Amino acid sequence: MSQDKVILELRKLKKYFPLKKNVNLKAVEDVTFKIYEGEKFGVVGESGCGKSTLGRVILQLYKQTSGSCVYYGKTIEEVNPKYIAKEIAKLVKYQQEADKYYKQALEVDKKIEACYAQRDAYDVDGSKSDIKKYDNLSLKIGKLEFESKELKKNASRQLREGSRTVGSLILCKDLPKIAELFAKAQKEVDQAHEYLSKYHELEAKYEKNNTIMYQIRTTSEEIDRLNALPELSEEEVLALSDLKAIRSENSKVNVKAMVEENLDLKGKMIDLYNTSEEHRMQAMKYKEAAFEYRGKDILPITERCLDPEYQKKLDGNYEEGINLSKLDKKEMRELRRDMQMIFQDPAASLDPRQSIGSAIEEVYKINTKFGSNVRREKAMELLEKVGLKREHYYSYPHALSGGQKQRVGIARAIALDTRFVVLDEAVSALDVSVQAQILQLLNQLSEENHLTYFFITHDLGVVKHFCDRILVMYLGNVCELSESKKLFKKPLHPYTQSLLASVPRLTIGAERGNEQILEGEVPSAINPPKGCPFHTRCPKCMEICKQEKPRYMEAEPNHFVACHLYDEVKENEL
Ligand code: SF4
Repeated sequence: MSQDKVILELRKLKKYFPLKKNVNLKAVEDVTFKIYEGEKFGVVGESGCGKSTLGRVILQLYKQTSGSCVYYGKTIEEVNPKYIAKEIAKLVKYQQEADKYYKQALEVDKKIEACYAQRDAYDVDGSKSDIKKYDNLSLKIGKLEFESKELKKNASRQLREGSRTVGSLILCKDLPKIAELFAKAQKEVDQAHEYLSKYHELEAKYEKNNTIMYQIRTTSEEIDRLNALPELSEEEVLALSDLKAIRSENSKVNVKAMVEENLDLKGKMIDLYNTSEEHRMQAMKYKEAAFEYRGKDILPITERCLDPEYQKKLDGNYEEGINLSKLDKKEMRELRRDMQMIFQDPAASLDPRQSIGSAIEEVYKINTKFGSNVRREKAMELLEKVGLKREHYYSYPHALSGGQKQRVGIARAIALDTRFVVLDEAVSALDVSVQAQILQLLNQLSEENHLTYFFITHDLGVVKHFCDRILVMYLGNVCELSESKKLFKKPLHPYTQSLLASVPRLTIGAERGNEQILEGEVPSAINPPKGCPFHTRCPKCMEICKQEKPRYMEAEPNHFVACHLYDEVKENEL
């Protein structure tokens, strides 16, 4: 795993399930973290902690309530989502709205000042009527202060939204010109994308021809091999008849014409690619011209606008990745090629009436334009890749063991250009020996295909050995995030400590020292406790824990925790 390239970033992600008016089940609460390319990222916690919901929100199977989930596995230019143009068109509005809210807040601040002056004229220890007027004004001040705070928050929210598209440029007086440059850049990107789509169409045709030519070469060899066997199994008989059908289908193919067609396709593909690159370069020039405005002619919309630190923060919001929640259904379906899921029960994810080959081919049928021959060949290659035999193509799920079924699940998940896989308790239902084999296969595939895993489990033993980093969740909140070894050696959060202490020991009568076993029930996510969500069960609970929610902070290098026990550490560092 390299920590150079982030593949996914979650910022203050929330997922609430509305139950009835003003009643929500708070499944995921302000979750923030990054996942690096090639990383095996584990998520642990008790049932109902929100880990599975989080996996589904990342894949947009559930829409998030707020926050962002940004995917960096593909560039914006590659996907070219429609929301970018919409956001560019809204830039000036974001700035105007921020300005409007802030001006309103300043008006409210003036009223607050006047109220204070008015209130100071009354004697708190004076007559009853004075005291009443004093109290009424205090009440009014409280309401106005709340209103002003909300208006200022709204102003910041508008600037933050705009900064996702242009960074700190959202503060510039010349924003209309900047937005124009961004719009021009977007048009160039659209053009580049169009040429690239045509390129990919030709590429698919080119690949299809190559596969057919390869098939023609290999089918005869395989038929000869099967014919030479003294006896054929039922599956081999089926395979032989299929191969003969392929040979007969391909008998009309003119290989010479196909070679020439591919040469022609190659030439056209080069032209299309070059034209696409020209538009992409032009888009970059427009963007560079827009970024020339950075730091110049800043509008003092809010009191923080002239602060270089704030401008840096807005630049940090600039999203170079794809904000998954803003994609439309079609775009998200396209991106699902990159992002897949493997479920706990391999049997439930397979149709008992569908052969294994057909189950894998279905992925290609839905997502590609491959012909039946190509689909079959790719499915067989995949079966071999996940440690099954080509003959399994003809088998039905009932003939496979649990481990083999899970291998089929993995084959389906990596069938396309998968980069990121959510594994939801993917090995929990398997025997220990089969678990080890599947984990080994996942390891091997991750190295071969540069896959990144989001590994959800309640099994601490598995994450310890399989994952690079582990995220501990409790009641929808992040408790701790650290490298696996560090987390097991020195857990910081009392919940993690209790969770580790609850793991059964193999030695009878083994000493547990001062470890606190987890006791009691997880509180309801509909009405979570105030302050730290773990305070009702925490053996180290302090008074502050019942009132204030702890900040999520880096208590040690690359070791994040949300617990008041480390407030001091952070303050000392600062
Ligand atoms: S914040 Fe307080 S209640 Fe929460 S885990 Fe830390 S010590 Fe326990």
